[in-house]
Amino acid sequence: MYLVRLIYASRAKKDFDSKDIEEIMATSIKNNDRDDITGLLCFNHRVFLQCLEGSREKVNQTYTRICNDKRHEDMVILNYSEIYQRDYPDWSMGLHLDNKIRREINLEYSMNSIFDPFSFNGESARLFLKAIKEFIKK
Ligand code: FAD
Repeated sequence: MYLVRLIYASRAKKDFDSKDIEEIMATSIKNNDRDDITGLLCFNHRVFLQCLEGSREKVNQTYTRICNDKRHEDMVILNYSEIYQRDYPDWSMGLHLDNKIRREINLEYSMNSIFDPFSFNGESARLFLKAIKEFIKK
């Protein structure tokens, strides 16, 4: 079974609130721990960018469940790759929750300073999330 990484972007539905993100994180940590899925979810109260890493079977199953979730819409896969090494081996699902994702990190990986995951290509999405991970760890 291959190790894969999937990165997607989506938009929160209009009625999405802080209780929803708490429920999603609790469910994600429980399920991902069980399935040996690791990754990072970045959310600015409007749009999501999420990386899922793990076995191809488990990542595909998890992504299918997330696709059917009515709390968000407009899902776009930005990156799907076979990988040799995880970027988040110790995070069953990290969360970066911020209205103002740092201007310089946005500028480094996208065309403007506003967090807009739909403007990322596959590699810039991956590098952006790794930069957020380093920012969280500081
Ligand atoms: P259950 O234990 O059946 O439900 C858990 C809780 O979530 C319950 O309170 C239930 O009411 C609520 N819930 C479940 N599904 C929905 C739904 N479709 N609409 C509204 N409320 C619902 N799941 C993961 O396992 N791993 C992830 O990394 C992950 N990331 C996510 C990222 C985003 C942006 C979103 C929107 C969802 C994510 N989810 C993730 C949740 C996923 O969509 C499913 O809800 C979840 O995997 C169902 O797991 P379960 O059957 O164990 O949940």
